[in-house]
Amino acid sequence: MDHLCKATAEDVRVYAAVTTDLVEEAARRHCCGALATAALGRVMTGALLLAANLKNRECLTVKFQGDGPLGQIVADASADGAARGYVVHPEAELPLTNGKLSVGQGVGRGLLSITRFTGLKEPVTGTCDIFSGEIAEDLTRYLFQSEQTPSSVGLGVLVGENGKTEAAGGFIIQPLPDASEETLSRLEKTIATLRPVSAMVKDGLSAAEIISEILCGFSDVHILSETKLAFRCQCSRSRTEEILSTLRDEDLAQLAEDGQAEVCCEFCGEKYHFTKEDLLAIRNIRERLAQKERLP
Ligand SMILES: [Zn+2]
Repeated sequence: MDHLCKATAEDVRVYAAVTTDLVEEAARRHCCGALATAALGRVMTGALLLAANLKNRECLTVKFQGDGPLGQIVADASADGAARGYVVHPEAELPLTNGKLSVGQGVGRGLLSITRFTGLKEPVTGTCDIFSGEIAEDLTRYLFQSEQTPSSVGLGVLVGENGKTEAAGGFIIQPLPDASEETLSRLEKTIATLRPVSAMVKDGLSAAEIISEILCGFSDVHILSETKLAFRCQCSRSRTEEILSTLRDEDLAQLAEDGQAEVCCEFCGEKYHFTKEDLLAIRNIRERLAQKERLP
């Protein structure tokens, strides 16, 4: 069961997440190869860790626009633990690098942007250059450069020989602004010797247990909260109808003439099928609405 755990200890804050199921669901929905599963899984897990700092109904979008064979990778995550995402070329594969999936090469160089939707003001977007394409390293740099928040992000996705996601998860460590030199050097040492987070998840560790491993040696560890995580998309048939209703009359007429239309959600791969009658009904609804608007 995927979940995210928040904790503090002394002058440091740590969030950890187990995301195996939602990464596997994303990979299955988009028919991802191993490389795309690892890359998309890391981006989705990173988005969830960043979204954990948002308020209840807020959400954010993490976008890697690299020039590698995977193409653009996008993930949305909300504070309540929902994530969705896609990769433009889920089929892309590369030879392994030192026995590991070549995620950095697959992503390539380009722009990383993060947009926060707070619901109150205009969305806020920050950007920075993609440094390595390994995702965790890029998010760490982004947080430092764009948000002046020193952090260490760790992300890992283990893809089995059969292409299934065996383990996925991540963490974010942030020393609080008043953190002591001692804390900083202790964290540095911990991070340098920490085993891969995917190995911890594969061993069955929960997010709280991953945090214990990271904060081993720290006293006063407080688990603040635990949130369930899941792959969830906001698309629906009625939303798709709304989108179709914004098409020009002649385009809708053309679709109706073709006899049917299929709209596929890029975030979750869900397909919505519309018959000729459905399409004509959408046209009629809109015509009625337009007439109403014209009335005094
Ligand atoms: Zn969808």
